[in-house]
Amino acid sequence: MSEVLFFSYSKDMGPLSGLQRLLLKSPLPDMIATGVSVAIKLHMGELGNIRYLRPSFVRTVVDMVRKRKGKPFLFDTVTAYPGERRTKEKYLKTAAKNGFVRASVNAPILIAGDKDDFRTIPITNPIDGCQLREAKIPNQLLQSAFMVVLSHVKGHELTGMGGAVKNLGMGCVSTETKRAQHYVNMPEFKEDSDCNDCGKCVNVCPNDAIEMIEGKPARSIAECTACGSCYFTCPERCWAWPPGSREKLQIYLGHAASAVVSTFTGKIAYVNFIQDVVPLCDCIAKSGKPVVQDVGIAFSLDPVAIDMASFDLIDQSPIIPGSTTVKPPDILGKMHDTNSLVQLQTAEKLRLGSMKYELVSI
Ligand code: SF4
Ligand code: SF4
Repeated sequence: MSEVLFFSYSKDMGPLSGLQRLLLKSPLPDMIATGVSVAIKLHMGELGNIRYLRPSFVRTVVDMVRKRKGKPFLFDTVTAYPGERRTKEKYLKTAAKNGFVRASVNAPILIAGDKDDFRTIPITNPIDGCQLREAKIPNQLLQSAFMVVLSHVKGHELTGMGGAVKNLGMGCVSTETKRAQHYVNMPEFKEDSDCNDCGKCVNVCPNDAIEMIEGKPARSIAECTACGSCYFTCPERCWAWPPGSREKLQIYLGHAASAVVSTFTGKIAYVNFIQDVVPLCDCIAKSGKPVVQDVGIAFSLDPVAIDMASFDLIDQSPIIPGSTTVKPPDILGKMHDTNSLVQLQTAEKLRLGSMKYELVSI
């Protein structure tokens, strides 16, 4: 059973003071040795999204690391799909617009792009039909002596809930490894849909994988990189994820996360921010309105336990009237027609952590 420290927003203390207290009560300060490089991994938000992690939270973590004489830097990877974080340059511009600049966070911001160096970490003994045999992890990240993973816990179109495991498995790997995971959920055109021949899917596809034939889109699987842009762009919802592909993606995600964690054994900690729990992830500009009341902040050395605790805390938080018709358990999974626990079950089987936890309120 793993320990999860928890600061509840129901306490009579502001969120930033609560975060400071949580960090001080955690083993994190004692784990940071003088002079070591500390990667602070986070998602800085797609352009237009307003639910991503606030820079003031990140600054609080940076200040703590600096106080322990560590050398912090903010870290993320470029996206595999087209958007305002597709390249290093675009990502840094978006981060600045979202408030992440040196002056606000007091740390350098490093983004790993496609041309950077990666180390290939083999995935030995995959389980549950996973075909992923390796994960490519940026050297910039691997050169750090410690990693603090900051995750905004919210919904995700494919994984139901997205938290620390998602941040590790998709957020810490190369574009190639992101795509290798997403190939299991390549969107398919629904033959019985009401396609209006608008051509938007053709225009949005970054790989020219779609052409219109007799008023319907035809997609070349060989050209498709499973970026999902056609799915999200189609005004008539003519594209769908293949049955079972959401769960498959979660299985792949667990494997990629285990590869990342294997390179940071004993040198990694997790902070989950359970607030702004919206239906969609921070990669989407219109990620929706919160579905439950803000919960609080959790800390753990176990990514599975912290996600499991976040999952339970979301289910226990009052639903915001009118936001959703689904009921616990697994509010976010039900909103996306999947079981959010598949990623955690996979990660647990891969010995990444434990779904059993002890919640310790601070
Ligand atoms: S066909 Fe769709 S999922 Fe595939 S690359 Fe094009 S836009 Fe992306
Ligand atoms: S975007 Fe949708 S409606 Fe428009 S052509 Fe493509 S499938 Fe048809």
